[in-house]
Order: sequence, then C-alpha cells, then structure tokens
Amino acid sequence: MGTANHGVFSLPPPIDISLENLAEFPEGRRVLTCIQCGTCAGTCPYGELMQYPPRRIIGMLRAGELEKVFTSDSLLNCVACYACTAKCPRGIDLTGVLLPLVKEQVLLRLPEMPAELQRALENKLRYGNPMGESPRKRAAWVKTAGVPVRILHEDPRPVDVLWFVECYSSYYPRGQQCARATAKVFHALGVDFAILGNEEKCAGECGRLSWERGLYNTLMEYNMLVLGKYQFKLIVTSCPHAYDAFRYRYTALRFNYDLRHTIPFLTQYLDRLKPRLRRKVSYKVTYHDSCCLGRHSSVYEEPRMLLQAIPGGKLVEMTHNRVNTICCGGGGGGMWLDTYYKAKGYERLSERRVKEAVATGADVLAVACPYEISRFEDALKVLGYEKKMIVRDIVELLAEAMEV
Ligand code: SF4
Ligand code: SF4
Repeated sequence: MGTANHGVFSLPPPIDISLENLAEFPEGRRVLTCIQCGTCAGTCPYGELMQYPPRRIIGMLRAGELEKVFTSDSLLNCVACYACTAKCPRGIDLTGVLLPLVKEQVLLRLPEMPAELQRALENKLRYGNPMGESPRKRAAWVKTAGVPVRILHEDPRPVDVLWFVECYSSYYPRGQQCARATAKVFHALGVDFAILGNEEKCAGECGRLSWERGLYNTLMEYNMLVLGKYQFKLIVTSCPHAYDAFRYRYTALRFNYDLRHTIPFLTQYLDRLKPRLRRKVSYKVTYHDSCCLGRHSSVYEEPRMLLQAIPGGKLVEMTHNRVNTICCGGGGGGMWLDTYYKAKGYERLSERRVKEAVATGADVLAVACPYEISRFEDALKVLGYEKKMIVRDIVELLAEAMEV
C-alpha cells in the first residue's frame, strides 16, 4: 500500500509571522507592495460597513497608525471569504495573512467578545467541536447510516480512504443526513473507507481565521498525531473548511497526505456513478460556490459535473457564481456572529445569497459545505421562501438519484 502514515514525529514550531515582523516573510513583504487601488474594499461583501477595509488597514500600517485600526470592531465583519485575496492585483494574501493578524489584535482589545463566538471557541477547545457536544457522540450517526461504516480505533487495518467527517456532519441533524448519504454513496461505489470516529476533532480552520492562534495550533497538533496512527492512501473530507485547513495550514506541521474534498473525489467516479443515477428528477437546481472550495481552491467545475449527471435536473447559474460567488457569511467565525451582526442591523450574507438563488427560479439550492445547509435553510425560512426552494448537499442529491 502507498501508505501515508508518517508515524509519530516531533511537531515543528508554528510559523510565527506577526505584524511586527511582516517584512521577514515573503507573504508579509507582499502585503507591503499594495498599490492602494481599493479593489479589495470594492469587492468585499461587507466593505461598505468596514471602517477599515484591507486597503485602509495597509495605509494605516504604513503610517504607523495600526493602533487606531485595532480599536475599531469593524474587522469582525470579515467572513474570510477570500474575495479580496482573489481580486487583489498584487496577489496579496489578505485573507490568509494580514486580516487574521489584525483581527487577533481587534479581538484582544474588545471590551467583550461576542458571546456566541466565545462559546464556540471554548467548546472547540474543551470538546473538539463548536457545539459543545460530547466527543463520545461524534460517531453516533453511524448507527443509523444504513451501511457499514468502519471506525479506525475499533478496526485499525489499513484503508484506502480516511474520511474526515468534521463537526457539522457529525453532530448537526441535517449534517448527519449528509453524512449518511455520503456513506451510502461511498458504499454503493465500492470505496474502501473508514472514519476516525470519536478520535476526530474540529480541524480548526475558522478558529484560525477568527484568530485564536493557541486553539488552532492545539487542534492541528492533536489531529496530526491521530492521523499519524493509521495507514491510508487518501484523506477525503466533506467540509471545505477542513479541506482548506489541511491544504494550506497543516502544512506547517508537515501535512503532506493526499487530500480531496468529497465533490472532486466523487467526480473521479463519474463513469461508475452515471449508470447508477437511475431516478429521473424534474427540478431546476442552482449551485452555491463555497468560498474555501471555489475561490480559494478553484473547485468550480466538479460540482457542476455531478449536478449535470443527474438525469432530468436543469442547472441554472446565479448572477454571482464561481470566483464572484457571495459568501454564505459563515467563514472566519461568522458562523457564530449572526446575533452580533443582527444587533448591528446588518443584512446577513446568507439572506443576500438566497435572494439571488430564488431569483433564478430554481427549486433546489445545491451546496457542498455543511455550514451552508444550516445557514441557507435558516435564511429561506426568515425570508419566507421555504416553500419556493430547498437546500441540498450535492451528495444528498446523488444519493436520491441513486436510490441508495
Ligand atoms: S486590492 Fe490589493 S493592491 Fe489593491 S488596495 Fe487592496 S490590498 Fe492593495
Ligand atoms: S476576506 Fe472577504 S469579508 Fe474579509 S475583507 Fe476580504 S473580501 Fe471582505
């Protein structure tokens, strides 16, 4: 087996880039090449609400006046959507480098951390998931999966695919439905897969981008050590945030496992999938590009290939699609800032997005991220659109069409 097991190793120290030593790192030096064009502020979904959008932050950095930026809470509106990063003509990684560093300082100076966010971060540290659920229940959904799901600490034989399920798919009832659908599709396709079960903890990406550096490093180190216990060829995860964390952040801890998100992974099986998609459907479907999967990792065509393979389904595009997608508002800690945004009178991005989805005339809003299911289902309800449109993970639509 081409094993990816690294065994036990000593963990290298985390990269210690800071606002003071930016010029010592290539990513930091790039920040300083900003031409103050304002594209970042113009493209930001909350740009008009930010006292200090990225362009102004860099201006203040150059003027030595960052302390003023730290005392404004406007950067809490940043949902880490990568729009500014994707559009910056200087290729500055605002979302991955500058904004978390500034956010960290903003959070340190807040008189009070928004309660929902505080709770989620504490829960991740204490229980390994933002909901505060018992780690012992992480694999409880497996009992009702309808197909066998191997848990590695019970049966540690080598496996082809280590499926990193993540928190929302493990605990949240709608997420569990997606987990069951994924298990059934993997099973029907003959994928040799297993999960970490109760040994898995949140990959921590949003902790990183809402900058809780200590928490993030703790989760990374823990997950790397657990992964190192087993032999597998590939990690597949259904969560774009975990995918993002593994691909771009865990590399600091020598993560070099072969990695796929569930959607590109399943497109590798298209030839085997197509003859099994027997149930003809009659819906119009529109696809929401997740920021982490789309804008940050250029996975645009694979979700559409799978949707178009479902017989009878008609794919229609929203005005903002692919690199221009509008964030669901859940990234960078936004998942736990809805109450905070509401108190400030801001429009939730999930509501902005579903208005656009409904305007396409589609019946189904297809997604590839467990965060989006809860955010969009809630937004449809709040706006009174729940009879016009349903939200489905692409894997759920495949499972339905396969009748598994
Ligand atoms: S888009 Fe890039 S170059 Fe333009 S102002 Fe923003 S950070 Fe500077
Ligand atoms: S990452 Fe998104 S929300 Fe944050 S500043 Fe950039 S464009 Fe705005």
